[in-house]
Amino acid sequence: MNILVLNCGSSSLKYQLFNMNGEIVLAKGLCERIGIDGSQLKHEPSGKDEFICQKEMKSHTDAVQMVLDALLDANHGVIKSIDEINAVGHRVVHGGEFFVDSAIITDEVIKAVEECSSLAPLHNPPNLIGINACKELMPKVPQVAVFDTSFHQTMPEKAYLYAIPYELYDKHKIRKYGFHGTSHRYVSAEAAKLIGKPLESLKLITCHLGNGASVCAVDKGKSVDTSMGLTPLEGLAMGTRSGDLDPAVIPFIMEKEGLSIKDAENMLNKKSGVLGVSGVSSDFRDIEQAADDGNERANAALELFYYRVAKYVGSYATAMNGVDAIVFTAGLGENSKIARAKISEYFGYLGVKVDTAKNDCRGKAVIFSTDDSTTKALVMPTNEELVIARDSKMLLDK
Ligand code: ADP
Repeated sequence: MNILVLNCGSSSLKYQLFNMNGEIVLAKGLCERIGIDGSQLKHEPSGKDEFICQKEMKSHTDAVQMVLDALLDANHGVIKSIDEINAVGHRVVHGGEFFVDSAIITDEVIKAVEECSSLAPLHNPPNLIGINACKELMPKVPQVAVFDTSFHQTMPEKAYLYAIPYELYDKHKIRKYGFHGTSHRYVSAEAAKLIGKPLESLKLITCHLGNGASVCAVDKGKSVDTSMGLTPLEGLAMGTRSGDLDPAVIPFIMEKEGLSIKDAENMLNKKSGVLGVSGVSSDFRDIEQAADDGNERANAALELFYYRVAKYVGSYATAMNGVDAIVFTAGLGENSKIARAKISEYFGYLGVKVDTAKNDCRGKAVIFSTDDSTTKALVMPTNEELVIARDSKMLLDK
């Protein structure tokens, strides 16, 4: 069984084609600048040369068509007929309170995803465009939606309610939803395997530290709290997002700087975080380099970032009344031994001791705490696409 996994953004489309017999990636790639001048497809078939095609893509339908053409191409293709795609799994960002699990896409599912668009106006509309493009081009192929939010639907009310008038929750569904759910779900399950204990017996704190970043408290396999909120803006400082701040800051800067609501939103989403503080970059590699070179603001941005991660971990250890292991994943978490070591310095009270030699690794599953640590610290590479493919297969098999 082959499953095509799609992740549609406003002007981009990432894809991977899996052969679920052995969970092998047959090809992956990326369409960029959809609907903008200079659009291109980068296609990486497994075992063959990379293929780049610069051709106008007016819409996501054009992009999906180009992906299918690339997959079927005589030279750089990996399948012979479209019938070899048994399902398409879509990453859908917001499932609101509708979805506690992944779902086979039906008209009702599409309606619910549309209803969630007001909660994720930047993300759900392009996800829906991708779904509709596939419906048009592959009408017979079943499609599955896998939501970033659904893993966190197990959070208790005390964790997801905001302390604002309750009517706003009733009327507009304003509450904490959380994101990166597929990643937190995957790495917590893989961490349990690495530790060698059932997930149902463990209290884990998973730290997804990439451009977007969030922490999740996973108690016996269930998300009980997470740092992102109604939108992915809450929580940790991120590449360009502010994360938590006093809500009063927003009207204050709007007034002082003469900003509209859109301007303020843009500033908090695109110009803040470690980019805003450092003034250097949103990329942690650049900031680590600048800090190394003596740039004080770069250093301040990193220290602020590490401190926030550590504070969330501390609060989730309290929420679960303990923690067995802290798991690091995503771009920074998997690759930066400096970030892992600096954050772990805060965990002495939890009994985490870093084994420097074991921490000297990149992108592989490792327990990097010493054997006598009472709480373990782990690196666990994430794989959201594989989760989407597995969920799609599981739903089809049913
Ligand atoms: P996203 O999927 O949210 O775009 P990723 O999970 O790919 O992000 O993470 C991107 C971040 O990971 C970037 O800020 C990048 O600098 C950081 N990163 C990747 N490799 C390294 C590394 N070797 N050292 C430090 N940071 C790294």
